Order: sequence, then structure tokens, then C-alpha cells
Amino acid sequence: MKRHLFLLFCALFFSACKAEREPKEDKLRQWMSDNGKKKILCTTAMVSSLVERVGGTAIECLTLIQGEHDPHSYQLVKGDDEKIARADLIFFSGLGLEHGPSLAYHLQNSSKAYSLGAYILKTAPQNIIYIDNTIDPHVWMDVSLWSQTIPSIVETLNTLLPECKDDIKNNAKVLIAEMKNVHEMLKNELHSIPKERRYLVTTHDAFNYFTRAYLAEDEEVRDGTWRTRFQAPEGLAPDSQLSTLDIHRLAEYIMQHGVRSIFSESNVSRDSLKKLVDACKEKGYVTTIAKEPLYADALGPFKAAGSYLMMMEYDAQVIVRGLKE
Ligand SMILES: [Zn+2]
Repeated sequence: MKRHLFLLFCALFFSACKAEREPKEDKLRQWMSDNGKKKILCTTAMVSSLVERVGGTAIECLTLIQGEHDPHSYQLVKGDDEKIARADLIFFSGLGLEHGPSLAYHLQNSSKAYSLGAYILKTAPQNIIYIDNTIDPHVWMDVSLWSQTIPSIVETLNTLLPECKDDIKNNAKVLIAEMKNVHEMLKNELHSIPKERRYLVTTHDAFNYFTRAYLAEDEEVRDGTWRTRFQAPEGLAPDSQLSTLDIHRLAEYIMQHGVRSIFSESNVSRDSLKKLVDACKEKGYVTTIAKEPLYADALGPFKAAGSYLMMMEYDAQVIVRGLKE
């Protein structure tokens, strides 16, 4: 790894360590207090990872959906209304990700809520992936694409903090450059897997953007055939229904492409993957579930995948190990 990238990951690691040491209650108490800082509420850690870097010391960020909770189906719990009322601004991922009715209602009806995904849809609609005519909301799984939301964070924070415009602009510039480096590094790492082995099967459809950005060949991105490199037994949300027909179709896919490792996700049941392994076994083919789970809709333990960019690097390493074996 190049030296500057090593230093970048050291910085990410220590900031994640700091966040881990700070008890959740203390952080919430501080965020709710009047200490002169603007209070920003972000739905997921992937959103707050960008917003807190761009806002810097002028803001305090709180992540609403923490731990292993599923952002697709998250419903407001006791205390969330107070957080929403206290926030000066709310940033969310959007594109249908946060579709739990109580949270979705607030996000759609609040004048202080901003969707990062909607900004991509408006400014670069050609980069949005559709699955069966539904928008795939997992845009953060392509670091380069996620970094394209930073101008909207800058614009929105500038309206709240006009006196901090220069700092916000500089913070954004540094973050965009870091994300560009990480994006290129991930592509290089994943392209170290021979292309005939770059076929990914995970629990739910969170890795389409990842596959297009990091597993596909350039010509496959141009002609749309990159889609053949990724399959998931569950749909765009892990709460969707799974049919026996889907399991058998996927078992055929695994055998056709010689896939020896399939991947679970941290906050999704492994049941569908176990069914896949069994279906392959019935047909006389051995595939196994990789020991380490991937992270997509939620961050992982702080030492491994405790910040957004660390999570992306962790996923890349797990996939490289699994598919190269
Ligand atoms: Zn998801």
C-alpha cells in the first residue's frame, strides 16, 4: 500500500477508535446540549462519515440508525422524535433506502431534510442503477459515486454556516481527494482477482454499485454486461421474500461460473445462503460461505470496518481473499 494511503487508513482507524471510546449516552447528551455548534442528524453512518468531515469543527453529527439496525426497515423508536426536532439539518441516503414508514414520513415532510441520493439522481442520473424498474439505493458502495454527493453537502451546510464557507470548501476538497485515492486503490485490489473468478454472490442486492465499480471490466460497464458478475438471493431490501425458484436459479449461476465462495452480510440472516449451499450440494457442487461477513448497510467493529472508508477497504480484502482462494 502506498505510504499516503497507509497514513490515511491510520487516521481513519484512530478516529474510529475515538468514536468507539465515547459512550453512546455521553455523545447523545452532548449533541442535545446547547454548545454553540450546529446539530446535524444523519440517518446512516455512511452519510455521517461524509457530513462530519465536510462540516468539521463547526458542526456536531449524530447517526440515527446505529449498530446492526437495517436502514431499509428502520422505524422511529423512543427518543428519535426529540433528535429530529433538535436537528438543525438532517441528511439522509434516500433513493428509497429509508422506507420504514415512520422515518420515511419525517424525511419526506421535513423542510430541513436533504437526500444525498436525490442529488445524484438529479445531477448524474446515468449513474443510478435500476433493478426491475426500482432504484437501487446502495450508491455509497461505489466510493467515487458517493463522493459526488459532497457538493450538495457543501451547498447545504453553507446555508446554515455562511461564516464557515472557506473551511467547508477546504474540508470537501481534502475529502474528495482521499475518496478518489481509495476508489482507485479498491479497483486495483479487486482487479488482482483473475477476471474469470470475479463473480460475487452476497445475501442481498447491496453490491451492484460495488460490482460495477470494482469487479467489472471497462467494456462490461459500457455495454451493461457487468450485471452478470453479481447475484443475491434476496432483493434490494433484506426484508423481501425469497422463492425456491430463485434458489435453484442461483445454484445454477454459482455452478456455471465456478463460484467457490459466497458472502454473508453482517446484518442479514445467513439462511438464504445456507439454502444455496445445500442446493449446490444436491447438484454435486461444493461452494462455501466465507467465514467473515461483508458490511454494506451497517458498519462493522471499529477495528475492522468502523468508518465508511475502512468498511469499503475491509469488504475489498474479504472478497479478494474469498475469490482468490
Ligand atoms: Zn441494503
